Amino acid sequence: MASSIANIDETLLRTYIHGCHIMHHHQVVDAYGHLSIRISPTIFLMCRYMAPALVSSRDDLVLYSVDTGEALDSNAPRGFSERYIHSEVYKAYPGVQAVIHSHSLDVVPFSLVPSRPLKACIHMAGFLGTAVPVWDATASYYQQHPDAERSMLVNNTEMGASLATALSTADCYGLPQHAVALMRGHGYVCTGESIEMVVAKAIYTAHNARVQTTVNCLVGASSTTSSNTPDILYFDEREATDTGRTTIQGAAKPWPLWVAEVTKDSLYTMDL
Ligand SMILES: [Zn+2]
Repeated sequence: MASSIANIDETLLRTYIHGCHIMHHHQVVDAYGHLSIRISPTIFLMCRYMAPALVSSRDDLVLYSVDTGEALDSNAPRGFSERYIHSEVYKAYPGVQAVIHSHSLDVVPFSLVPSRPLKACIHMAGFLGTAVPVWDATASYYQQHPDAERSMLVNNTEMGASLATALSTADCYGLPQHAVALMRGHGYVCTGESIEMVVAKAIYTAHNARVQTTVNCLVGASSTTSSNTPDILYFDEREATDTGRTTIQGAAKPWPLWVAEVTKDSLYTMDL
């Protein structure tokens, strides 16, 4: 398997760079956040420390060890301090082929109210299930490491491994029971079986959060004029499971549209 960016298939690199651009175009990331792709059981690829919208060439890409989260090339350009999110998810779930970390402002509010979990309420986001888990850096790490700087950044393997456990156990395919986990006051991690799939899941996670926020506003508005608070008809377990499966089967449909959008926008460049 390739241990150098120069040896990696150009089609895969194009898909990766398109994925970075699409995430930005759909506001999953701004200057922060990142996408990675597994290259082999022990190696993954992600861009260097830069805004995903500006990734354009092989020079922007770095190969990392799943085991350590460190670059294979000691002369590689600076990487993201939170690359351990990716390395530890790949380590814990051998079926995961792509990972996204996002700071989406649509999603972050649901990391702060334990009694109001993010849950599937649109058919394109059934993969979220009936309650998306929230990982709390303070409860899960800082309380055991009181001298650590509480930056909320997942900047070592121990924190990454702790976050990975929030996705629950691996199934028989090596995939986590939860495709997404929120990070308190920070963002979320999203997993998938391909770049196309993880980008789709990350986009529809944010869409779902917007709908859920809107419906909560509707309920709040109506409750000021009525003594009866209306029920919110979230998806049940079966609806979430079945719609989630359908989304996975249909993930290829939006990709050509999303690629066309970023290809026609001069902000995004491809130099392969
Ligand atoms: Zn982050």
